[in-house]
Amino acid sequence: MSRPFVAGNWKMNTTVAEAKVLASHLRDDLRDVNEIEIVLCPPFISLAEVSNVVENSRIKTGAQNMHYEDKGAFTGEVSAAMLTGLCQYVILGHSERRRDFGESDEFINRKAKKALELGINPIICVGEVLAEREHGREREVVSASVSQCLADIVFDERLVIAYEPVWAIGTGLAATPGEAQGMCSLIRSLLADRFGNENARLVPIIYGGSVSAGNVSELAREADIDGGLIGGASLDPEQFSEIVRTIVRIRR
Ligand code: PEP
Repeated sequence: MSRPFVAGNWKMNTTVAEAKVLASHLRDDLRDVNEIEIVLCPPFISLAEVSNVVENSRIKTGAQNMHYEDKGAFTGEVSAAMLTGLCQYVILGHSERRRDFGESDEFINRKAKKALELGINPIICVGEVLAEREHGREREVVSASVSQCLADIVFDERLVIAYEPVWAIGTGLAATPGEAQGMCSLIRSLLADRFGNENARLVPIIYGGSVSAGNVSELAREADIDGGLIGGASLDPEQFSEIVRTIVRIRR
């Protein structure tokens, strides 16, 4: 059985002080919740503080990006080595980084390999843009992306794949449960081709794109949606907690 998994991507929101308050709130609200992996991904500058706040809870932390080199002349970048000991996860290939910083699947593959090498669990994001879906190319695009992002990576239980259709991110227009399930099931079969059926079930496949407390239950009921990558709604502690509790209730 795959593991229920939920991550909050705070994007470029919260000061350090605000991040501590949000993390404390979530730590307290979710104290009694088990049987799910919960990851908070604040901005880099708040990672240490947020990690301290959640230290004795079951909540983990993640970065929103990293570089594949260990160190050097990469102004503004952070390496996996720098994240080691600070957080357990890293989001790689978010569509906002692909769109605004030109990140390619090949680049994301290098980052994923480096993250695994240094003990950081990669949450690899894939998803089609609206024009690709309108032309019926979403399966082809996501298949190619998964294949390139995972090139030369052997099975590893620490992998997490997030299906995030770009047209659904931050728009309030979530994919329908059927659309999301269709793509998550495709990703599961791609993982099965690569790693075998049993291993494919061990990798959480999560959906992201305008998930809210209102739509999470219908999404989480789908067979291949193990949880969510939550953007906007993760900044609202009541809503994020409700999303986590709903996923636990439905998937355990
Ligand atoms: C995201 O940033 O990964 C995301 C899914 O955002 P939102 O939930 O706001 O659509």
